[in-house]
Amino acid sequence: MKLDSYWTDSAPAFAGRADELPSRADVAIVGGGFTGLSAALAVARRGASVVVLEAGERVAAEASGRNGGHVNNGLAVDYAELAAKVGVERARAWYRAYDEAVDTVERLVRDEGIDCDFLRHGKLKLATRPNQMAALERSAQRLVADGVDPEVEILDAARVRAEVQSDRFHGGLLYKRSGQMHMGRFALGLAAAAERKGAQILTGTPVQRIERLGRSHAHRLHTWRGSLEAQQVLLATGATRHGGYGSFGWLRRRIVPIGSFIVVTESLGAARAQALLAARRTYVTVANIHHYFRLTADHRLVFGGRARFAVSSPQSDAASGEILRAGLAQTFPQLGDVRIDYCWGGLVDMTQDRLPHAGERDGLYYSMGYSGHGTQMSVHMGERMAAVMAGDGDANPWRDRDWPAIPGHFGPPWFLPAVGMYYRLKDRLA
Ligand SMILES: Cc1cc2nc3c(=O)[nH]c(=O)nc-3n(C[C@H](O)[C@H](O)[C@H](O)COP(=O)(O)OP(=O)(O)OC[C@H]3O[C@@H](n4cnc5c(N)ncnc54)[C@H](O)[C@@H]3O)c2cc1C
Repeated sequence: MKLDSYWTDSAPAFAGRADELPSRADVAIVGGGFTGLSAALAVARRGASVVVLEAGERVAAEASGRNGGHVNNGLAVDYAELAAKVGVERARAWYRAYDEAVDTVERLVRDEGIDCDFLRHGKLKLATRPNQMAALERSAQRLVADGVDPEVEILDAARVRAEVQSDRFHGGLLYKRSGQMHMGRFALGLAAAAERKGAQILTGTPVQRIERLGRSHAHRLHTWRGSLEAQQVLLATGATRHGGYGSFGWLRRRIVPIGSFIVVTESLGAARAQALLAARRTYVTVANIHHYFRLTADHRLVFGGRARFAVSSPQSDAASGEILRAGLAQTFPQLGDVRIDYCWGGLVDMTQDRLPHAGERDGLYYSMGYSGHGTQMSVHMGERMAAVMAGDGDANPWRDRDWPAIPGHFGPPWFLPAVGMYYRLKDRLA
């Protein structure tokens, strides 16, 4: 078993042409995940000079290369609860931002000819207890009644059993606009497209400090390669572990890096995979500590979850892999003989309200906090923040929102075990 991401292991790494830090650029982007690469492509397309500085040795090797492979529509929070808090109009607009984000990914895949097995087969949210069906039905009714997502559909237990070979589920809610793709191959295609349009992408280049030049948007970025002066800077650093607290401290006090973990089986073969998940959708169970799964094009099962409330490290990933293996066996006992080929973890950039945050502070632009729903939103927001930096403030669907610091959160998330205990108890009592 490899303690490595299937997506990065099964895709060639992007080998960029840039190897020297230029001294100036119109736009500098800190972070070469999907947010940063998508922004770089959009900035380069309008003819501005843009440099991406990525700390790791490979682009999109953090969350963007370590996720579950779902490109889902729908919010990370319950639509009706959100509408009660912020009003129907805002909640509807934010829900639709996810639809647009899936469209953005699909458009880029098509326009740039990215070979990444993109499919739109929908997402099925699965009830693991009979009493969860009432909540799913209420959600579906509300999404239809408010004209937010008229295509959602409730599937009863028999219909779910016809497409998911497991006795665990009591029905589900189908979101038809959701998709899926191979994250490693998408990353390669996105980076190559940005470079073709003129972006310079430098890996192995952590930004250590950012210095504001006067009161403008211009900054000097300090790295071991030297410094770069940019007229505008976008922070696309996700749940960053790089960079000193000085330049990034404000963001770190607002983002909790939470570990999520994944195992991938050996290929099940076409026939066995087809029998297991006939509709080849993305699947998520209803729970605070949930499971998510899907098949790959080469017929493996990708099975993930927030197995433990811990941050990701090789030991932590292996321990979580054992917990996930048990979850997989409980869901699909018929796969008991199947080998696990990959196991890894990654950090989700969770925010307190579980919504993304994007905007500008002290002359620096930022977009992050996708809270586990970010493969589509990061790509979308990269484009949108490029438009914001070009002067179109309305392009940012998450504008004009407060983003208070999380009380007591200054650095490593010491409170995760307690949060985990709370959610496990909540799931048991639900
Ligand atoms: C295990 C897991 C499963 C997930 N599953 C799903 C899913 O199925 N569907 C979904 O929608 N979302 C999922 N997500 C979330 C999704 O992957 C992320 O929201 C999205 O990829 C975020 O992209 P990003 O570019 O903003 O951040 P990242 O991909 O984390 O990229 C940020 C980059 O910034 C770099 N960086 C940080 N600091 C510095 C610095 N100082 N200098 C230079 N570079 C720096 C990092 O090295 C990193 O490469 C999952 C996340 C995880 C961890």
